[in-house]
Formats: sequence, structure tokens, C-alpha cells
Amino acid sequence: LLPILLHHFIYRRATPTTLPTFLLLGPSGAGKTALLTLAERNQVAATRTSTSPLAVEALLPEGFTPASSHYRSPGDPTFERSRCFLLVDTPGHGKLRHFATAQLADLSNVRGIVFVVDAAAVAEEAGLNEAAGYLHDVLLTLQKRYTGAKTSKGPKEIPVLVAANKEDLFTALPQHLARLELEKAISRIRKSKATGLKDSGVAMGGEEDAMEDEREWLGEGGEGPFEFQQMEEVGTSVTVLGGNVLGSEGSDVKGWFEWIAEHL
Ligand code: GDP
Repeated sequence: LLPILLHHFIYRRATPTTLPTFLLLGPSGAGKTALLTLAERNQVAATRTSTSPLAVEALLPEGFTPASSHYRSPGDPTFERSRCFLLVDTPGHGKLRHFATAQLADLSNVRGIVFVVDAAAVAEEAGLNEAAGYLHDVLLTLQKRYTGAKTSKGPKEIPVLVAANKEDLFTALPQHLARLELEKAISRIRKSKATGLKDSGVAMGGEEDAMEDEREWLGEGGEGPFEFQQMEEVGTSVTVLGGNVLGSEGSDVKGWFEWIAEHL
């Protein structure tokens, strides 16, 4: 219990900040810590916002322009400031996943979610199911936030980047296949969850039950296969991009930083 309490404490201390934040989610072993370390190394001045190892202040590397600063020039203090962001790591271990869920409850400073998967692990059934199950739950949380919003405008969009990491490994699925396999696995999960609800009697009869059932159904597009594109109708764009934090030929995270820049 103590480590959990400690963790909770660190967590609460790590979050209050006004810097634009990107959440790092994903199964353990995917490469979140590696990415965090890399992003932190990009800093000009290595200052940590807290003693927590879970949130680091990162700086968009040279050559990337935050979307909010397209009309500013490098050297302009506002431009330099706009390149700062906070990267918040969340434990991917199953038992600790509720911390990630807690992070999802307050998304006020969050510009986007980077969901890291091991592209070699998703080439195998167990790894694929773990990643897809977690991603399904994250996307469903975002969907509920959107459909449950009180205002007609809806909450601000939280885009998701699925960072297919470890592309340096020859066993890794290339990004288009990683995308396809994750979509297929989420289709299966979505279907089995719906069946599970019916079997448990949750969704028997009653209009209210039918509505409840619908709220648990990820994405639009009826009973057919799930596609990430369906998330756009519920205010979430999902982009799948391959890359690697480590590897014998160095790292390739250009696409991910470009994505972050687009949302910064
Ligand atoms: P986390 O549990 O998501 O924080 O994952 P870690 O960052 O601890 O990484 C898990 C393992 O994968 C470590 O042994 C890393 O060295 C390794 N790893 C991370 N990124 C890459 C990558 O791009 N390529 C390869 N080959 N290994 C990686």
C-alpha cells in the first residue's frame, strides 16, 4: 500500500502546472520512460518542475515549430516559451492503471495523448491484446467525456498519437500494419464487451439499458469493423506513427515531435 500512496502523492504534486501537457500512456515495456528521457535531454536548461520522475519539462527540438507560433520567429521570447511542454508519464502496469485513469479525469491542460506501443510486441497476440485493450479503454474514456459534455459545443478535442515504437527491430510491425492490427483487435474487444454486457443482463430490454449499452460502445459506424477514423465523430483524432527511441542507428522520433508541434 505504501508505494501506492507514495505514488499517489508524487502524482498529485506533479500535475499542477500551466504548461501545455502531453500524457504518455501505454503498456509497460513500450518505451515511455525511454521517450521521456529523450525528450528531457532535448532541454536547453535542464530544470525539473518537481522532484517527480513522472513529469518532465521538455523542449521541442530545433527545427520544429509549435502550431501556436507559426508567425513568430526563433529568438522571439514568446516563440522560445511556446516550445516548452510537460510530458507526464503514467505507469502502464495493469495494477497501476487507475493512476492513468485518474489523469484522464482532468484533462484541462492536456493538449494530447501519446499512447506508446511496442511495435514488435503487437506482432504477437498477447502483446496486441494488451495494447488494444488499454487503448480501447482510453478511447472510450475520451468518447464518454465528449458525449457526456454539458455544452453543445463539446469539450476541446484531445488528439491521440499512437506511437508505434521500436521500429528499429526487424520483428516490428510497420506503422500501417500496427494500425490495422490494433483496429482489428479493438473490433474484437468492442464486440466481446457488448456480448458480455448482454449476457450479464445489463442490456436487457428497457430504453435506458439500450442507451447504457450504446455508451459502452466505442466509436460510431454500427456493428462493422472498428476504425480509428470513427473516433473523429466523438471529438478525437487518432494518428498512428512509427518510430524508435533507441536503436543501433540512433533514434527516429521526428514524426512524433512533428505531431506534438502541431498540437502545441
Ligand atoms: P516503459 O515501461 O513503457 O517505460 O518502457 P521503457 O522505456 O522502460 O522501455 C522498455 C524496454 O524497451 C527497455 O529495455 C528499453 O531499452 C527498450 N526500448 C525502448 N525504446 C526502444 C526502441 O525504440 N527500440 C528498441 N530496440 N528498444 C527500445
